[in-house]
Amino acid sequence: MPAYYYPNRMGRILVASLRAELGRDRLGEVLVAAGQPMLDNSGVLPNNLEKRFSFEVIASLQAGVEQVFGAREGRRLNYRVGQGTFERGLKDFDPVVGVADLPLRLVPLGVKFRVGLDVFARVFNQFSDQVVKISDTDTHYLWIIERCPVCWGRQTDEPCCQLAGGLLEEATFWASGGRRFAVEEAQCRARGDARCVFQIAKTPLE
Ligand SMILES: [Zn+2]
Repeated sequence: MPAYYYPNRMGRILVASLRAELGRDRLGEVLVAAGQPMLDNSGVLPNNLEKRFSFEVIASLQAGVEQVFGAREGRRLNYRVGQGTFERGLKDFDPVVGVADLPLRLVPLGVKFRVGLDVFARVFNQFSDQVVKISDTDTHYLWIIERCPVCWGRQTDEPCCQLAGGLLEEATFWASGGRRFAVEEAQCRARGDARCVFQIAKTPLE
């Protein structure tokens, strides 16, 4: 099986968000459960774009949180960790993609939303081995992860890519200028589907 990776920089963002959400001690437990205790030392992940942070490690961190906190609470936490990665990611990747330069305030919500998702997908497609496609229906945008690191190699009864869901919710909040949209993982590879698909409502909540 070929090996797939995130760049070190994305790995650093993920570990930093885990630390902020769980606290240092619980993070330590998760890293041990995931078999990745060395990640506690931030020096092991240089802040560069070399692809060294494997999909196996990403999935093992998700499973580790579920193992330490229980599946239900662990998935809630993974969602929050995903939300936390957005702001860090925007700060760290903006210099290379120029997201903040987009004149998003000047275009209608639907267009803005679509442009934001496209840019966001490009970050993963360009800098990591994650493969993302975007499609839509009358009512939803579809964020289709053809090669998903979040559940890589896992088998679960329910969708388990909450990390990606949290990240998407924050990305759409940002792209829409501060509105919330329902995000749902409709298909998950770990549950036996062909790929991981998130539905994002086109109409904001409330
Ligand atoms: Zn997945």
